[in-house]
Amino acid sequence: MRIILLGPPGAGKGTQAKAISKKFNIPHVSTGDILRSEIKKDTPLGNQAKEFVSKGLLVPDEIIFEIIKSGFKSALFADGFLFDGFPRNAAQARKLEEILKEMDLSIDKVVNIVVSKNEIIRRLTRRVVCTKCKKVFRIDDENNGSALTCSDCGHVLKKRIDDEEDVIMKRLKVYEDDTAPLIEYYKSKDRLLGIDGTGTEDQVRERIFSKL
Ligand code: AMP
Repeated sequence: MRIILLGPPGAGKGTQAKAISKKFNIPHVSTGDILRSEIKKDTPLGNQAKEFVSKGLLVPDEIIFEIIKSGFKSALFADGFLFDGFPRNAAQARKLEEILKEMDLSIDKVVNIVVSKNEIIRRLTRRVVCTKCKKVFRIDDENNGSALTCSDCGHVLKKRIDDEEDVIMKRLKVYEDDTAPLIEYYKSKDRLLGIDGTGTEDQVRERIFSKL
């Protein structure tokens, strides 16, 4: 299976991606996770990406293409893939098509998780992520301010550098301008599955599984 996960920041793509990649036994490829890991390791790629990520802007396409191409060069995508956070604009979607066409392959499904703007802002301003296993948690009024640790692996939970309110608003604008048009693009190719992203993690997962 070759799947793309679409949806605004905070739609729950990362969380659902883990379940989908496990069910279909395909690698979960999050360009955001890859960039954050490079930034954390202070690599040249990470240094280039940091100024864009921290401002909520898209990292230049050339950097993203390098990451994606190296995945295709290795055997990583041989049995399929689940892209989470890629493609993010029309140029990236065209590039992906070009790469796949050369290998006589195509995308099977595009899962679009739909969540309202108000709900996204509410989720992202409260989001903390495990520094080790990347599990997502929400700060509520009860635990706000206390030292937070992951219920799965015990490591510290932290806010992402781009989850501050001004950066969230920028990311939403970038999503609306650059990424949302891909919904129509994949709809016209008859690949799109629209999924209601409200409710519990389990409910959203079941909606996705029943349509895939
Ligand atoms: P995400 O984890 O998908 O929300 O991505 C976090 C940030 O990483 C984005 O706001 C961008 O700065 C950058 N990023 C992730 N994926 C891409 C992509 N495909 N193209 C450009 N920038 C990206």
